[in-house]
Amino acid sequence: MTTAAIIVAAGRGQRAGGGVPKQWRPLAGQRVADWTLEQFAAANLDHIVLVLSAEDAKAWTEFESGPFILVEGGADRSGSVRNGLAALENHGVTKVLIHDVARPCISARVISDVLVALDTHPAAAPGLAVTDALWTGHDGQVTGTRDRDSLFAAQTPQGFHYDAIVEAHAAHTGGAADDVQVARDAGLAIAIVPGDADNLKITRPEDFARAERILRADMDIRLGNGYDVHRFGDGDHVVLCGVKVPHDRGLQGHSDADVGMHAVTDAIYGALAQGDIGQHFPPSDPQWKGAASEIFLRHAVKLAASMGYRISNVDCTLVCEYPKVGPHSAAMRSEMARIMGLHESRVSVKATTSERLGFTGRSEGIAALATACLVSP
Ligand code: MG
Repeated sequence: MTTAAIIVAAGRGQRAGGGVPKQWRPLAGQRVADWTLEQFAAANLDHIVLVLSAEDAKAWTEFESGPFILVEGGADRSGSVRNGLAALENHGVTKVLIHDVARPCISARVISDVLVALDTHPAAAPGLAVTDALWTGHDGQVTGTRDRDSLFAAQTPQGFHYDAIVEAHAAHTGGAADDVQVARDAGLAIAIVPGDADNLKITRPEDFARAERILRADMDIRLGNGYDVHRFGDGDHVVLCGVKVPHDRGLQGHSDADVGMHAVTDAIYGALAQGDIGQHFPPSDPQWKGAASEIFLRHAVKLAASMGYRISNVDCTLVCEYPKVGPHSAAMRSEMARIMGLHESRVSVKATTSERLGFTGRSEGIAALATACLVSP
């Protein structure tokens, strides 16, 4: 089974105010689109298509090197969806989710429920049963009532068997309110999975305040610090933050003695209150002798994810007179980001000397300090 999501972000919607399309407006510390993409990135799908307007030049540049398949939007929403579907051709996709970028409070539960429903249905979408009484009105007066019993408010992501929705879109004559209507018009049976009242679509200016309250309500922010020291010994290189740096000495240690990576790993364990490297990988255990420290860092990152946290950023400072870190810091950031599955903008590696004071000043070893910020959900 190969899964994919199409995030439709090509709209120019400015009804929400702010002078830029709503998906690029700030919301609870990042942009609307960042929240949406983060939730889908965490859902372990095989592919994520991001449909962008040709006018959003900055977004094209920004996401170019990321994990998303970028596609240009069409003349309208269905055109954008069709372009997204076309970009997934020959990817062996069996299930596809189609989501509006302006629903940033989408939960992992709803995404997963839609995917599970697709095991037994060709199409599935979240719907929220209408609980308020419904009126019709005119000129500020109630003119009638409507039976709400069989009414649902439609949400996204709407999920489909890939081949079926491609065919349905190709056959559709236009004017559909959403992809569920396209699927229905093609005769597909669509299962309703329980929607989420928090999964609002940002449309009006006041929706930002509500979305911000939802996103911040159960946000748990955790900080951890890490500190490590390794002593110089014989050798012709050191490994710092995953990068082999030529040097006239090596660092001693049970593993590869990557003091920077150890500090970052301990900072993550610290934020989780889950001990330290020594506890998870005892130095007394011979299997970790000479081990690449990447194993430790990956373990900490996986543990964070399993406890429901994502790493917001890490910052590492290496303390040494030599080797000079500056020329290698870009490579170190990039390597650390790769291992942790983060964008490089969330990883900092910097260095300082200790003015020739103390053990680092006497070049007896290298010290490293690190801070990690973890956020849930
Ligand atoms: Mg160490």
